[in-house]
Amino acid sequence: MICNYCRSEESDIIAEYTRFEKNNVLQCQNCGLVYLELKKSKEEIESYYSSDYCQAPTHQRLSADEHFHNKVIQNDANNRILFITENLDIRGKRILEVGSASGSLLHKLIEYGCREAIGIELTEEYANYARSLGFTVYTHPIEELNLREEFDGVVSFHTLEHVYDPMAVIQAVYRALKPNGYFLGEVPNQNDWRIQIFDDKIVKRLHYDPDHYYYYSPITLRNYLGTCGFNNITLQTIERYNSLVQLRNILRNQGRERNAEEALRKYIFPKNEREEVRLPHVDDPVESRFNRLFERGVNLELMGNCLRFVTEVRRVA
Ligand SMILES: [Zn+2]
Repeated sequence: MICNYCRSEESDIIAEYTRFEKNNVLQCQNCGLVYLELKKSKEEIESYYSSDYCQAPTHQRLSADEHFHNKVIQNDANNRILFITENLDIRGKRILEVGSASGSLLHKLIEYGCREAIGIELTEEYANYARSLGFTVYTHPIEELNLREEFDGVVSFHTLEHVYDPMAVIQAVYRALKPNGYFLGEVPNQNDWRIQIFDDKIVKRLHYDPDHYYYYSPITLRNYLGTCGFNNITLQTIERYNSLVQLRNILRNQGRERNAEEALRKYIFPKNEREEVRLPHVDDPVESRFNRLFERGVNLELMGNCLRFVTEVRRVA
């Protein structure tokens, strides 16, 4: 396979499993980009996202309405709108969200004063749900939409890891932005402390998701944004998962290889809220305090669970 960023053909295999599937994860020897050894074509991927994605066995199956009201999704939308409004004055602005799912963040954008929030979502069921809430949602990949200098801001959360050709997508985001427009978002972080410090089979199989074709680190994400023309790139990391619970699990599992799939299933399909590692346990003051402290600590080395970026166009008008 050719590296999407630098076109090198030299890579190392760094993992052999993506969750329940045997599938190689490769790292480019030249630029360090981590990506999946893809067995699907661009068309197959687009058709998968269009209809089969929300029923995939690798994550919880949620209807669009369940997705919109899901606690994890609502928690994500609340955190994301705070991050957006801390970095960009959205009042009266026209914002595009790439990967808008059921529309929970589009809804927040309007609530926080944005003039128009438009989505791109390939999954028809989710796109239709957001349309029923009154939003305009495109169901074609951004690189096929021919958007030119139309938006004050583009936001994208946990989408760039799902696309077939990140270079084409980020270039299309750049073209869609007005001069001085902003691009903000988040992706899973390949430099996550769970992956880089511990050699935990279960945590690695959870991290390497068969629906994630790219795994960005601070360096490789910066490479993409800079090459596509973006300036003033700032990065930070956050802990999307409950750090203390995961640290306990990692320490408990050290040296154990048995029942990886069973443990994995527990992470992906939690039986109750207490087992849900993606929700903070706000009722536990010790855990909350540790998580806040820990999040700030790992961010100093950009080793948190998710990587957030803020960058701007600064194109000569
Ligand atoms: Zn490369």
